[in-house]
Amino acid sequence: MSDRAERTAQLEAYHRDQVATCVRCPLSEGRTQVVVGDGRLDADVMFVGEAPGYHEDRQGIPFVGQAGKLLTTLLEEIGLRREDVFIANVLKCRPPGNRDPQPAEIGSCEPHLFRQISLIRPRLVCTLGNFATKLLSGRPDGISRVHGHPLPIEVAGASVTLYPLFHPAAALYTRAMLSTLQADFARIPELIAAAPAPRLAPAPVAAPEPVSAAVATAPAPDPARSAAPEPAGAQLGLF
Ligand code: URA
Repeated sequence: MSDRAERTAQLEAYHRDQVATCVRCPLSEGRTQVVVGDGRLDADVMFVGEAPGYHEDRQGIPFVGQAGKLLTTLLEEIGLRREDVFIANVLKCRPPGNRDPQPAEIGSCEPHLFRQISLIRPRLVCTLGNFATKLLSGRPDGISRVHGHPLPIEVAGASVTLYPLFHPAAALYTRAMLSTLQADFARIPELIAAAPAPRLAPAPVAAPEPVSAAVATAPAPDPARSAAPEPAGAQLGLF
């Protein structure tokens, strides 16, 4: 079996045995089902949103509501189909009333996302919004500051390129956000082509990081980018 086929088989087993049945946090009590993820298990590009909403919880598929329709359109505009990529979320279960993910929930769920990234080993991981960006960059910088800036990271032993993007829902609240999203999406094909082939990070020589650690491996972005005032809607955590 090739390395890629072996990783795909491992991920299918992980999804079935560890994610679909997960009871690591109390969100398992209120969900209709776990929203494991959707798309190619050997994709070059992965998208990571925040958490399932009402429709995702019902259908068991990420990004099937209004934000999902916009995500599909943004992908099509750059020549990609949903089936070409893998789409996941920071949380695999719907928070009640679509409230923000809580730190304990993120902590419980992050091993699932990290395992997905380490087994899919995409060239590019596009984070949609603040929660995914902060988790995978390991930095507190908000999405308004870092969107459109690729960053090399290591996730659970895999070296990949992180590409932070606004969450598509931001453009549903603030229409002007659409052109920013489109401009950032337009760079995805070139970033996929330019990203180094995904590889396992060298084995640590000293004490290893916890298996779940996501570590940015480049300098922090220019603080001057944070000078612009936050647009309306930031209180939703979208910007
Ligand atoms: N928003 C997200 O972040 N994820 C989904 O799956 C749907 C909406």
